[in-house]
Amino acid sequence: MSGRRLVQSIAGFIDYLFAPGLCLACGCELDNAESLCDCCAERLQRVPNPCLYCAQPNPVEGQVCPACLLNPPRWQRMIAPLQYRGLTRDYLQQLKYSEALHLSKTLCRQCFGPFRQCAPKPEVLLPVPLHRERLRERGYNQADEIAILWSREFGIPVERKALTRLRATPSQSGLSANQRAQNVRRAFAYETIHDYRHVAIVDDIVTTGSTVGEITKTLHRAGVEYVEVWALARVYHR
Ligand SMILES: [Zn+2]
Ligand SMILES: [Zn+2]
Repeated sequence: MSGRRLVQSIAGFIDYLFAPGLCLACGCELDNAESLCDCCAERLQRVPNPCLYCAQPNPVEGQVCPACLLNPPRWQRMIAPLQYRGLTRDYLQQLKYSEALHLSKTLCRQCFGPFRQCAPKPEVLLPVPLHRERLRERGYNQADEIAILWSREFGIPVERKALTRLRATPSQSGLSANQRAQNVRRAFAYETIHDYRHVAIVDDIVTTGSTVGEITKTLHRAGVEYVEVWALARVYHR
């Protein structure tokens, strides 16, 4: 490449860096560093009045919904701010199946608030692991990607090797709640050199909660007292 062409291409790259970005969803010009315009950001619908335990809408006053008061989950708190539908669902599917890793950043940036407000913060973030064969096929674990972004934002370390998946369980999709629970029974192991008391399990989506419920059981058995579940999106499940 000639000196002149090199200078031109560097200048082009600098232009590119400072040009206003385009909204990922509608393509309109953006005047800030976000990747979605305000209109499209609103299409990522929040869960209204979420229950402290199940992160689904609480129909009554108070922190905990009647279903969780009657039958509390194993974990001590769940945060999953977005409804798994519409644009959120499209983006999470692209993140999981189409290597669209940049979408983890787009989604995380839109819903830092509820995690930031959570106090005291967990000592460590533990991404839900893939079985090593599935990790090899896919090349990445979307839960790791999300945990790394939250780690940077909140200054909480991530331990990616502490949880392992012992069996390559079949996909949970299409299974009933009972079948899902059976499918992941005793599927996880937890090993760390740290004596954590308060941790957060990180995943992209919570559906019935059977996977994070099974991991919580494993963590409690290992002496962890307070388990939170941090996810981007919640499937309403009742
Ligand atoms: Zn837009
Ligand atoms: Zn609840």
